[in-house]
Amino acid sequence: MKAQLAKYLRSIRTPGSVDVMIHVSSAFDGGNIEVVSANKADDIQLRIRKDNASEFFQWFYFRVSGAREKLCRIRIINAGEASYADGFRDYKACMSEDLRDWRRVDTSYDGQELTINYKPSSDSFYIAFFAPYSLDQQRRFVARCQRNPLASLEVIGHTVEGRDLDLLVIGSSGASKKVCWIIARQHPGETMGCFWMEGFLGRLLDSADTDVLKVRESAVFYIVPNMNPDGSARGNLRTNAAGANLNREWAKPSKSRSPEVFAVRNRMVETGVDFCLDVHGDETIPYNFISGADHVPSADTRMKQLLIDFNNALLHFSPDFQTDHGYPTSFQANLSICASNVAESFKCLSMTLEMPFADHNNRKDNIRGWSPERCRNLGGDCLKAISSIIPSLR
Ligand code: ZN
Repeated sequence: MKAQLAKYLRSIRTPGSVDVMIHVSSAFDGGNIEVVSANKADDIQLRIRKDNASEFFQWFYFRVSGAREKLCRIRIINAGEASYADGFRDYKACMSEDLRDWRRVDTSYDGQELTINYKPSSDSFYIAFFAPYSLDQQRRFVARCQRNPLASLEVIGHTVEGRDLDLLVIGSSGASKKVCWIIARQHPGETMGCFWMEGFLGRLLDSADTDVLKVRESAVFYIVPNMNPDGSARGNLRTNAAGANLNREWAKPSKSRSPEVFAVRNRMVETGVDFCLDVHGDETIPYNFISGADHVPSADTRMKQLLIDFNNALLHFSPDFQTDHGYPTSFQANLSICASNVAESFKCLSMTLEMPFADHNNRKDNIRGWSPERCRNLGGDCLKAISSIIPSLR
């Protein structure tokens, strides 16, 4: 029996074996794809599905199995209808065979279809819009952070589907302490925010780092590593389980439709805010950039100068930051957006950080593009920039 089993196992692992069917699946945390046709490796046709309760779509994440040594030609046939389809120009999809190392693979876009070509050396591989970050990873990360004696964890509310909304508090509050709020992943498809958080919190919680000691003495940090766990689990691009785009809910957050923003904003009112950074990814602009809130009605000279100072500090500390490319300033006065709403409500420096899905074009990496590792580095560098402006925040 053993010999027969071994022979069978060898037969199904033979390159090009007809016994192994190609299979495409997204039935896992953060997965998103619909299979149109997957009968042949060189003709796999897929569609990205919409967010569960809205029209947005662009995030994709799926596994192709039964593919060892087969050249797979994968066509995402509705790519041209995606929410920010221009972002597929000069874009290369992310691929991993081991769910650890994510690399860019041969990808082309003709204005309608996104075509990905890849020949795996193992039985299966994953393809995603950007390296994914599962809720399991998220829980492990939060568990590690809250074990650090410098940190504490508060569950400040619950999502539409009843998941915990975690707030990590680093340091203790006090009258002289500056209050810094940092949030990420309001848009669940922007997983780069979670990798950024790993770099940021890794540095903030490093007790051996003497520079950071000063920061912790002069500020308390309130950090929401994932604002949208429901959308993250569902593989949504932009919305929560109720179809709300959380970064358009800040003017009037609703307990039923956007309880995530409702909870965070209430806690902000309790703590006050001297600094706010909302971490995102932008589908179309291939650069890291800051979108400030210096055009809100109450922006004054002090707030405008703080924004300039922060940009200059981040330029100094990060090789992956620039200020030539970004959003038009009219975007900044929309008070339903977190950064603008917080700036207007608390008269403080409040910004959105955007990272690219493809690459930071000033410093391209042809193997990995903009990657989890570079997100982490930028997170650590952002802490240096914040520490340099903390004395002038209030
Ligand atoms: Zn976003």
